[in-house]
Amino acid sequence: MSSIIGHYINGEWRPTAGREVIDVLDPANGRVVGAVVAGDAADVDLAVAAARAAFPAWAATPMAERIRLVEALAEGLERHRDRLAETLTAEMGAPLGFARAAQVGVAIADLAALVGAARAHVEREAVSNSLVVAEPVGVVAAITPWNFPLHQIMLKVGAALLAGCTVVLKPSEVAPLNAAIVGEILTEIGLPAGVVEIVFGDGAGVGSPLVAHPDVDMVTFTGSRAVGEHVAREAARTIKKVALELGGKSAAVILDDAPVAASVEGVLRSCFANTGQTCAALTRVLVPAGMREEWETAAVAAAAHWVPGDPTEPGTAIGPVASELQRERVLAHIRAAEDDGARLLVGGAEPLDLPGAYVRPTIFSGVTPEMRIFREEVFGPVLAITEYATLDEAITLANDSDYGLSGAVWSSDERHALEVALTLRTGSVGINGAGLDVGAPFGGYKQSGLGREAGSRGFEEFLEFKSVMGAAGLAETRRDAAP
Ligand code: NAD
Repeated sequence: MSSIIGHYINGEWRPTAGREVIDVLDPANGRVVGAVVAGDAADVDLAVAAARAAFPAWAATPMAERIRLVEALAEGLERHRDRLAETLTAEMGAPLGFARAAQVGVAIADLAALVGAARAHVEREAVSNSLVVAEPVGVVAAITPWNFPLHQIMLKVGAALLAGCTVVLKPSEVAPLNAAIVGEILTEIGLPAGVVEIVFGDGAGVGSPLVAHPDVDMVTFTGSRAVGEHVAREAARTIKKVALELGGKSAAVILDDAPVAASVEGVLRSCFANTGQTCAALTRVLVPAGMREEWETAAVAAAAHWVPGDPTEPGTAIGPVASELQRERVLAHIRAAEDDGARLLVGGAEPLDLPGAYVRPTIFSGVTPEMRIFREEVFGPVLAITEYATLDEAITLANDSDYGLSGAVWSSDERHALEVALTLRTGSVGINGAGLDVGAPFGGYKQSGLGREAGSRGFEEFLEFKSVMGAAGLAETRRDAAP
């Protein structure tokens, strides 16, 4: 087992002696692969004080220098790509190839898109009779989950740094080891001390005191809807700005002219990749009644390619879920679907002959809106097929959700697909298999969240806008990011 990792505060690794620790377990085999200190409110105080002290100088740092450092961070991720991928595989079970290409690759792409947004950003402009000046929000608390941990850290930390904010990051206690490598990279690139703090621990020990802290100006949170509600309530006590990226129950609408094989392949990839632990995964599919049997048959055949296995073996398509706890949650959803009368086509709750937190990729059909599997986020590889009679019914079914994160439309007529896409009450919609676009805004309608991440909108979340009235004539609109 590797040594215990302490918090990263004011550019230094804090002592670990005598501290409570959280073991990090490999979900493929239950082995301990590392440990971090279990932080508390005193650690949060120390970290917030460091971030507050570093804020004035960082806010005054020219954009060109902030961009230089964020680009150096991206280069650091590239330099450490293999180690980051191996660490992610060990702590949350993503297959190694996927961890390398998607988990780390997307994190690097996130930073590139954010840098592009920062370069294009107009810091001061004349509006009406005023000079409008964009300023950083201040000290940001960033709280992240375990499913795409590095991507979620970069969307928050990258954007906040470019905006001129300082950050206290609390990574998921399930998968914190990749964040420790980020701390090493921040030292390597010479980020000024105090600009980013990393405090390890769980929600009660670190998350809650961080959200409540009076010297934190903004909380950006990605995680479950339940904890998101708690964060919003707690942050409201001190009227903090809040950005929330929560769950989803996203629907793929298969139109009657859609190609069956391509739509099956695309929906299964969205639902099963990362072992179904993707917030924007297409976990419901709405199929025309006349196509339903053909679609089911093709889906059962395609599911056979998603064989669970050791995530360190090349060619493994699907690893374990991130923890034993997550496995129990997923199995409870599968049993609830069976109890509610959904028809099991493939998979199910039977254990696999594998040592870790594995679940079978599972497909239910005959799913109706009354069933829990139609409404509740599973966060595991479970697809629900619902048939529809008319396009109006398909749109009503797609929108019949408390969530509104993502969706998809499949059709051989792209314009028709776009018309349908525009009727969906979700923050993103993919047409004919188009996936995550880190240059475009990402976030949820309804109970999927507040605010946007990624690209220019994600960057702007970390800004305040000051109107200096009577100063419009003094606007020398400038892009100080220009090299
Ligand atoms: P979670 O809500 O349990 O935990 C998320 C983070 O919040 C962790 O760091 C956790 O320690 C912290 N936390 C827990 N209790 C807290 C509290 N009381 N106060 C402050 N922080 C607290 O979620 P998870 O299980 O880590 O991740 C899975 C969930 O995240 C899923 O529901 C998924 O849909 C959602 N998710 C959403 C997006 C998105 O962008 N919309 C992306 C990924 C994951």
